[in-house]
Amino acid sequence: MSIAYPDDLKATIDELVPDLVATRRDFHEHPELAFEEVRTSGIVAQRLQALGLEVETGVAKTGVVGFLRGEKKGSAQGKTLAIRADMDALPIYELNEIDYRSQVDGKMHACGHDGHTAILLAVADILSKRKAELSGNIKFIFQPAEEVVGGAEPMIEEGVMQGVDGVIGLHLISNFPMGYVGVREGTVFASANRFELTVKGKGGHAAMPDLSIDPVVIAAQIILAMQSLISRETSPFSPAVVTIASVHAGSAFNIIPQEVVLWGTMRAYSAEHRQFLLQRIQDVANGISGAMQGSCDIKLTDGIPPCVNDPGMTALVRKAAIATVGEAYVSNSEAVMTAGSDDMACFLEKAPGCYFIVGAKNPDKGASYPHHHPRFAIDEEALPIGVEVLTRAALEFLAD
Ligand SMILES: [Zn+2]
Ligand SMILES: [Zn+2]
Repeated sequence: MSIAYPDDLKATIDELVPDLVATRRDFHEHPELAFEEVRTSGIVAQRLQALGLEVETGVAKTGVVGFLRGEKKGSAQGKTLAIRADMDALPIYELNEIDYRSQVDGKMHACGHDGHTAILLAVADILSKRKAELSGNIKFIFQPAEEVVGGAEPMIEEGVMQGVDGVIGLHLISNFPMGYVGVREGTVFASANRFELTVKGKGGHAAMPDLSIDPVVIAAQIILAMQSLISRETSPFSPAVVTIASVHAGSAFNIIPQEVVLWGTMRAYSAEHRQFLLQRIQDVANGISGAMQGSCDIKLTDGIPPCVNDPGMTALVRKAAIATVGEAYVSNSEAVMTAGSDDMACFLEKAPGCYFIVGAKNPDKGASYPHHHPRFAIDEEALPIGVEVLTRAALEFLAD
């Protein structure tokens, strides 16, 4: 395969670093929550327009899509690569003492999406000046509302993945060391499903339980049985999580309540395992409730599927990562996987793709707190690494 990336790419990126960092810090100072990314998407649209891209705004409310037409004649002509970044912040009060601290009380970029947006703008900048080297097209997808799992699906419903042949994206990760890139085939982020179980009994006097059907005892059995779905029905080689995180019942010490409401979440790494566990959660809740003379109303949300990376696209990104940081710094270990979830999964269902991680942990710079923590921070030296891997992967995808 030809070397698609000229050696001057690192020099080009070096020149962009001051703007890359300033752009990220600007987004950091002005965080916006899901579907409220008006300022952020305004800046994104204006910058993409200035680069000469065809720009669509208001996609899924606050999303932006930039389209770059390659100008090289070649076999990839007509192919389109999508590159996705998410733009939203979180309802967290920032505790970092930095000059570019969040200026909006109670809102913070505590997941690195400010970095993702700045990185993709830099990639668009570089590739728009190299369209003579692209034999196909690039769609730059700036997605709203990742944190509430709301932005990807409506963008897809509005057609952003039509005609897309491959999709890539990255997540900066604060517990993965700076300088490393994590690229792995198969599932990298888990699926996520919320569920709500309303266990119904018959209320009454706490001293006369025989005249009631106690939903508290039924709920307690359900909570314990849910844990045996993992320990007894799930292969040790197929990780999954069932957590009941909220239990609401009762109003007094001497009243058996009518019902108990349980909220929980389930995570799995394959579509089949996810379906199996969703079914078993319902079977267990219904079965136990019925056996104990109660009943159970079950509400499952659609949730998001696991992020599954395509082997071919993973190989492409891996090659780009090796060219960027060197083979010793490209990991495909289990550390690349997370039990967290990400709605990049929805894009990956529509086209073969690869979602990879860029290490941003550096305790010397205070960047070691977990994502969604009020002191979350990244080592900004990870930003140009992200730019380079995405750019190289795009140049390679549309090289011939
Ligand atoms: Zn997050
Ligand atoms: Zn995130």
